[in-house]
Amino acid sequence: MAELFYDADADLSTIQGRKVAVIGYGSQGHAHALSLRDSGVDVRVGLHEGSKSKAKAEEQGLRVVTPAEAAAEADVIMILVPDPIQAQVYEQSIAPHLKDGDALFFGHGFNIRFGFIKPPAGVDVCMVAPKGPGHLVRRQYEEGRGVPCIVAVEQDASGNAFALALAYAKAIGGTRAGVIKTTFTEETETDLFGEQAVLCGGTAALVKAGFETLVEAGYQPEIAYFECLHELKLIVDLMYEGGLEKMRWSISETAEWGDYVTGPRIITDTTKAEMKKVLAEIQDGSFARTWMDEYHGGLKKYNEYKQQDAEHLLETTGKELRKLMSWVNEEA
Ligand code: NDP
Ligand code: MG
Ligand code: MG
Repeated sequence: MAELFYDADADLSTIQGRKVAVIGYGSQGHAHALSLRDSGVDVRVGLHEGSKSKAKAEEQGLRVVTPAEAAAEADVIMILVPDPIQAQVYEQSIAPHLKDGDALFFGHGFNIRFGFIKPPAGVDVCMVAPKGPGHLVRRQYEEGRGVPCIVAVEQDASGNAFALALAYAKAIGGTRAGVIKTTFTEETETDLFGEQAVLCGGTAALVKAGFETLVEAGYQPEIAYFECLHELKLIVDLMYEGGLEKMRWSISETAEWGDYVTGPRIITDTTKAEMKKVLAEIQDGSFARTWMDEYHGGLKKYNEYKQQDAEHLLETTGKELRKLMSWVNEEA
């Protein structure tokens, strides 16, 4: 079972005694920087020339400097810029200012796990990853609660890296909810697998295949959209609240029977064998290499896929139907 840590296990003074740089002010960056500050931590934000979020950070009372200045001033540097550009920002602006005893922090293990960033031996390397989007992390903190975090240490140069990571997690509210200890390897590989096989890739493909099956059989696209996409939210909400059990408690017996007998015909042993291949490609680094080549090669295929799905009947149908449901977008 996982090891859990709470407020009493973390000492805020450990992070209050450091100078923290948060590089990036997006979803995670703004939540970390503001909550660190409100927890009494000395924090500055590092942003590039022409950053869209600079004005907002300053309006919210934070001091904004360049990533290089932030890294030079600080002894704890949290990198919260998009994963594909982290290695470049690290090389240009952070590595030249790293000193023995500094700590490098991440919100996701991608660049460390796959070796795109190789920190020097004298530096602590830690991860604090909230299990929720930044706006939720910040709102929970402001309400006196917190979003659970997972925390990992890749390199413990100081001998105190885990305590430092726990203190950081406490400063953004994570230990109020609970912190789970993990490793960079476990976090990165499970995160990539989950989004590819289940959450994003698997779900999108399932929805499209179901929709196409109904439309190709002559049913109206609007009806197929409701059955295969729109209603998914109700089902997922029930799973989120109470697992498969609550979902099955809420649906009809007919739906539940269909769930048991048809589900395994859709997600078969062949599907699972393919999932294992997907996992192997994540573990051996080939997915990461292919993706970074695609990203730095100008995102040609990425944009083709994006365009294809934008033109899919599922999407054009949904766009019209959602106009009939004013509450759908108001909820977001
Ligand atoms: P966002 O895309 O929301 O924000 C990125 C930020 O980095 C923006 O403020 C952007 O500035 C800034 N930025 C871009 N280029 C540079 C640069 N060269 N130098 C300095 N700043 C730059 O990122 P996320 O918050 O989504 O992701 C950050 C990290 O957190 C990633 O490692 C991600 O995997 C991880 N994470 C994200 C979660 C999420 O819910 N989003 C959840 C858990 C982890 P601007 O836009 O102003 O130009
Ligand atoms: Mg991810
Ligand atoms: Mg039904």
